[in-house]
Formats: sequence, structure tokens, C-alpha cells
Amino acid sequence: MALRAPEGTRDLLPDEQRFWTHFKQTAADIFGRYGYQPIETPLFEQTDLFVRGIGEATDVVSKEMFSAISGENLKRLLAGESIKAKSRLSLRPEGTAGVVRAVVQNDLVPQGAAPAKLMYAGPMFRAERPQKGRQRQFNQVGIECLGADEPTVDAEGIIMLMRFYEAIGIPVDRTRLLVNSMGCEKCRPAYRDAVKAYMDEHADELCEDCLRRSEINPLRAFDCKKEGCAAVMEGAPKISDYLCDDCRAHYDAVKRLLDLAGISYIEDSRLVRGLDYYTRTVFEVQVVEGMGSQNAIGGGGRYDKLTEEVGGRPTPGFGFALGYERCLLALQAAGMELPGRPPCDIFVASVDDSVREVSFRIVQAARDVGLTAELDHQHRSLKSQFKLADKLNAVLVMVLGPDELASGVVKVRNMQTHHERTVELKALRSLMERFLGARCDAAATGQLFDQK
Ligand code: AMP
Repeated sequence: MALRAPEGTRDLLPDEQRFWTHFKQTAADIFGRYGYQPIETPLFEQTDLFVRGIGEATDVVSKEMFSAISGENLKRLLAGESIKAKSRLSLRPEGTAGVVRAVVQNDLVPQGAAPAKLMYAGPMFRAERPQKGRQRQFNQVGIECLGADEPTVDAEGIIMLMRFYEAIGIPVDRTRLLVNSMGCEKCRPAYRDAVKAYMDEHADELCEDCLRRSEINPLRAFDCKKEGCAAVMEGAPKISDYLCDDCRAHYDAVKRLLDLAGISYIEDSRLVRGLDYYTRTVFEVQVVEGMGSQNAIGGGGRYDKLTEEVGGRPTPGFGFALGYERCLLALQAAGMELPGRPPCDIFVASVDDSVREVSFRIVQAARDVGLTAELDHQHRSLKSQFKLADKLNAVLVMVLGPDELASGVVKVRNMQTHHERTVELKALRSLMERFLGARCDAAATGQLFDQK
């Protein structure tokens, strides 16, 4: 039986791969306007980074990480030996921990420096149960801003994310932006205790996972999808009643800046994002309909303590990640089709084998000029070479036979107008250069080749 891609992964075939490139480019264009610079970190890191950064009690770390192990270390483990901490590796389940590690390691935010604004795009890995919109390898685009705790950072981050969705074609009225503040190390402990006390009172109505969560991190229970737990957590204390003055002022300022930018949002005091590192602002963007339960297309927040967790000096941070595959599902639900392959500029058809070497040279010359060019590689008949040219959506087909070659010419057919003219081989290069110049303008291209 032929092997298939592992469960929870998908191939990005050429049409989709082109769209993914466009997706990343659009993000780079928009985020670049806000000062974000590209960074790329390894696909795997020391497991400890995720344990310390994301939190041991999170689903992502406790259940969903893929470990990566070298053959040598696997042998050691199987032989009952232990391996060094630095050899315990995991595929990255998210991008923030790796970027923060890179910022600390490379000292990208020296004392007194302007914040480091960084963006990344690439695959993340989580051993989740695959379903529509939930994969084990998926792509994220994300940003991190390290070194500033002002609410302007949070607000401009949320605004640029919403601008991105619009630019990629997800209408704002199909989305819902949820915001909340999770407080800080001063005010959150009292809130945590209040939630734990509330959960203890309702212990007999909660699932086993939530009972375990109530011991380690009670706030995780807000994420539980079980109906019974969700109903209980509806009545739990609200963080908004516990925020300290500084956190409240920060949260109010973020909301005011969003109001000024005309961004609508819903305050959701139960929005507690799945990772432990968040402080103050958290937010999530959901698609309103057509996506089932996996409707979150992006989210993030502030993490003012994370840098210290991974061994850096205190450096406030803010970031978000958006899911490429979920955005694509949202776009397809709204009727978008993936753009097809761009047309081939020139197809060179050979009448018989005696001219194939010259055809090969013409195609090569066209590519060197900067055009897309193709020829038959399978000894097809002239008729089926034309079929191939059609399939490739060729703009021009050049036909070369022994008679043309003997006269030093080639026939050039414009496939849109079906007009054909004879061009001298020695004039081909300058013709190709003019084609390249006029390529953006289909009418001009037609004219160029049809004129006598
Ligand atoms: P998170 O890092 O969990 O906040 O996820 C950020 C975004 O990545 C989500 O809003 C989703 O769009 C996307 N995402 C997260 N997990 C998955 C997954 N398993 N499969 C596909 N997309 C995902």
C-alpha cells in the first residue's frame, strides 16, 4: 500500500503553496508598516524552554508536545540510560517561546533600547486529535514586541491583525474580536484563589481534568469544552472584579485606543488563553459562522514575565499568532477559490526532432530574459504540444520546423487573438525583452506581437 502523509498533516500543493506565500507576504507588508522585522528560529528547541515558558500544566505542554530525539539518544534511553537536559528536544508547539529565547540569547533588547519588534511565519506542531481546522502540523504567522509595556503596543498589535484579515480577504463583519485583561502577578493570585474556592464548592459538577486543573491552574477550567464544566464556570468570579488599579488603567487605555481606531470588540471576562504566560491584555479573533468549533483564527496577548522565566532580564512583551489553515477555511467558507497557476509567457513547439536543440535554446533565452517559458520534454506530436501549451495557459506559442530553421525564422502565435506572424531568430531576444516590459499590460502585449 502506498504510504500517506501522517495523520493531522497536509501537503500544500502548488496552488495552495502560492497562496501561503502570498499570505506571508501580505503579513510582512502590513506588519512591516508597524516596524516588525522578520526572524526565524529553529523548529525544535530544548523541551525545558516550553516547559518553563508555556507552563507545565497547559494542555500544549502536558499532552501535545512532539519530542524530537536523535538516534544516539534514543538508543541510550532504550538501554535505560538517562540523557542530558539539553538533549531533550521538542518540536515547537508555538512561536513565542523560541522568539523570546532568541531575543535573550542575542541580547536584542539591550537596556534602554527601543523595543524589538519581530515577526515569524512557519509550521508549529501539536499532538492534538485531528479534525477540520485542527492539525498536528499547522502554519502560523505571528509577531512579538519585546521591551515596552505601554498599551499602545497592545492596541497597535490588535489593529494591525484586524487590518491583515481585511487585506487577505476575511471581512471584518464575519469576525468577532474578544478582549480581556488577565491582571498581573499582584492582582491575579487573589482572583485565582477565588476561582479555586468556587471550583471546590462545585467539585461534584466538574470533570476530572478540571478537578486536576483546580489544583495546578484553576483558570484553565474556563477553556474546558465539556458542557457541565462550561455551565459551572459561567457562574465563576470575574477577573474584572479583581484587577488592580494599574491593570485596570492599562486595560482601559487599550480599549480606548481600539475605540479611537474604530475597532469593535467584545469584552469577555472568561477569555483565558490556553498558555500560562499571559498577563494583562489577552484577545482572540473568531470567525462568526461556517467554521464549527475550531473558529479561532488568531489570538495573543501580553506576557510581561515570560522573559524572566526563560532566564532573561525583566522585559515586557506582547504578541499574537494567527493560524494560516483556519484563515484559509474562513476564506473558502466565504467563497474564495485558490488562484491558479500564472500563465506561461512562451511555449516553443517543435515540428520534428531536428529542431529540438534550437527550441531548447530559445526557451532558455526566454527564461534568461525573465519570462516563463516551456517546451515539450516527451516527444509529443505537434498537436499535443499545442494542447500542452493550452493547458499551461501560454500567451505565445512559437512554432519551429525545419523550413523555418532553414530560413532563420520562427512562427509566433498569439494564443488570445490567434494572430500569427513570422519573426527572425536574430530578432527574438529584443522581442522577448519588449514582451517582458509589456507583460503587465495584456493589451500592449497583444499589440506588440500582432503588429506587422
Ligand atoms: P494559539 O497558539 O493556540 O493561540 O493559536 C493561535 C492560532 O493558531 C489559533 O487561533 C488557530 O488559528 C491556530 N491553531 C492553533 N492550533 C491549531 C491546530 N492544531 N491546527 C490548526 N490551527 C491551529
